[in-house]
Amino acid sequence: MRVLGILGAGLVDPETPVVTADDLGFTRGDGCFEGCRVIDGAVDKLEAHIARMHRSANAVDLEFDEPGWRAVIDEALAAWSPRLEGSMRWFLSRGRPGGVPTGIVTIGELPAAFAAQRRDGVRAITLSRGTAYDAYADAPWLLGGVKTISYAVNMAAQREAVRRGADDVIFVSVDGRVLEAPTSALVWTVGEAMRTTPPGPTGILASTTQERLFARAAENGWRPSYAEGTVADLDAADAVFLVSTVRGPVDVVELDGRPRPRDIDLVRTVQKLAGF
Ligand code: PLP
Repeated sequence: MRVLGILGAGLVDPETPVVTADDLGFTRGDGCFEGCRVIDGAVDKLEAHIARMHRSANAVDLEFDEPGWRAVIDEALAAWSPRLEGSMRWFLSRGRPGGVPTGIVTIGELPAAFAAQRRDGVRAITLSRGTAYDAYADAPWLLGGVKTISYAVNMAAQREAVRRGADDVIFVSVDGRVLEAPTSALVWTVGEAMRTTPPGPTGILASTTQERLFARAAENGWRPSYAEGTVADLDAADAVFLVSTVRGPVDVVELDGRPRPRDIDLVRTVQKLAGF
């Protein structure tokens, strides 16, 4: 991490300790966050991230001070080299018991693995999420579709993938429908059809990258839609992508140990449509 900003206080030395031991974000995972791509000195699809942070903060009953956030985001951007692609994060935690929320903005370099994964794709395994496909219907307290900072399960799933010799995970419901990845949306293509799991009752996060990809794909002759899918549908697809803001679309080259055929032109087309 190279740049560190504090909501309401501005930039500080990146080594500064900024969270106390009793911060509820730390002790309870109580808060929300955003992950953004910094490119050419700006935040890519800034408004989509602001809108989602608003929704997440509302869902966990925290105030999102939009002018304050925009100010500290701008300050952080000004401290980052415009020539360098970066990974920006915004964290909003409940703060200390009885205190005010903590807001943090960071910018750092991209994880080292991303360049190779964009180029060569990823090996994925499917893992059960342990819930029904529509487990989040009418249960807002489960925080489906909310980007909370409680990512321990997502990180555990990715470690399980590494233990099994893979790179990433596709979560599957107990009734056999594909959902999303721990830090990405899932998109698959069949001819000109481009599909993804619907947010809402499934509890998956609405992906800003997938939304942009679908909007641009529709303008370019594709037929994007929200659809239910099974692992068999992924096996039969022309291409399967894990799609997220900083890494972009990366294609799945092996699923549960089964190699997938790879159409490089198709991969590059989808990456380009998403802005990569
Ligand atoms: N699903 C989950 C669980 C994520 O953490 C992310 C990453 O932010 C995504 C999907 C992809 O969302 P986006 O494309 O907005 O980065």
